[in-house]
Amino acid sequence: MFHVEHRARQILRRPLTELFHVEQAASSITFHVEHSLPDKFRSPTAVPRETSCIPPTILLTFAPSGGVRLARIIAVANQKGGVGKTTTAVNLAACLAASEQATLLVDCDSQANATAAIGFAKDPSRRTLYHALILGEPFDKIVQKSQVDGLDVVPADKNLAGAAVELVLAESREYKLQGVLKEIRDRYKFIVLDCPPALDLLTLNALVAASAVLVPIQCEYLALEGVSELLDTLMRIRRTLNSNLEIEGILLTMYDERTTLSRQVATDLRSFFGTQVFQSVIPRNVRLAEAPSFGKPIIFYDIHSKGAEGYTQLAQEVIANAAKRTGTGARSAHSGA
Ligand code: ATP
Ligand code: MG
Repeated sequence: MFHVEHRARQILRRPLTELFHVEQAASSITFHVEHSLPDKFRSPTAVPRETSCIPPTILLTFAPSGGVRLARIIAVANQKGGVGKTTTAVNLAACLAASEQATLLVDCDSQANATAAIGFAKDPSRRTLYHALILGEPFDKIVQKSQVDGLDVVPADKNLAGAAVELVLAESREYKLQGVLKEIRDRYKFIVLDCPPALDLLTLNALVAASAVLVPIQCEYLALEGVSELLDTLMRIRRTLNSNLEIEGILLTMYDERTTLSRQVATDLRSFFGTQVFQSVIPRNVRLAEAPSFGKPIIFYDIHSKGAEGYTQLAQEVIANAAKRTGTGARSAHSGA
């Protein structure tokens, strides 16, 4: 343990602002990653890197299209495994629905962890996202009602791993999920996509379909591993496949206020990413780890837990941000209205 903390402190001793040059332009902030970055921040190709993120002012200027209320599609993505993507997707979706925001949770991961965590037992006969993406089956045959009022689910199962391969040969392969969601986007206020731990075709489909990406980062050793690759990918997608892709926010997960390491990671992330980091922080909380084995979101498993508090606050922040973007938007839970 001492070794891990010592090593992390060595990496984090330099503030992130020293590791990256931050250039602020009128419409974007550009991060140039230094060549002297520690190896773990570098891409395998070690080419000069450049990544744009949308500054807060741009984040607040979402234009509603043609008066029709379309769902805000939030992809929960980070190619690093085990950082809390599924926990965040499931609990954010449940908290949004509990705040009377009609929500759809789409499990884009062949591990099907979100499907299980929201309460669906394994069932080989159940239709999944695979049937929509590859077989073109209608959405109404695939979507399931969950135990949470106002929360529908598009489940996954292990066949989705095949979809990632089969999509390679498909025409317009990056736009398949966008096409599926387009049909039903006016039925929901929010659509939450749980992405797999890879920058594969399924994640690419999610990022192309999404209005914004939410990046959970675990407040632990090597927290930033892969983040520069993810930001680089986001920038490329904005340049090519989805120019509207925004950053919903960076979410600190598994935060343990008792450890210096957690506090240090949180401080460094906030000093680097500024207001793009959510105010809400998800604590390390054993109740969050237990809830999926009961097939329940945390607000139905233990509403009084710190985990439930964290995800309730996150949902309020997401609703409030959506309301600011649209000008009128969904009622903010902050407003108490
Ligand atoms: P993968 O990359 O494999 O899809 P993931 O990023 O979706 O993983 P999760 O499955 O959400 O990560 O979480 C990984 C593990 O950590 C799970 O066992 C989960 O229950 C646990 N976990 C997630 N968040 C917390 C938390 N805040 N406190 C305690 N345990 C947590
Ligand atoms: Mg997951």
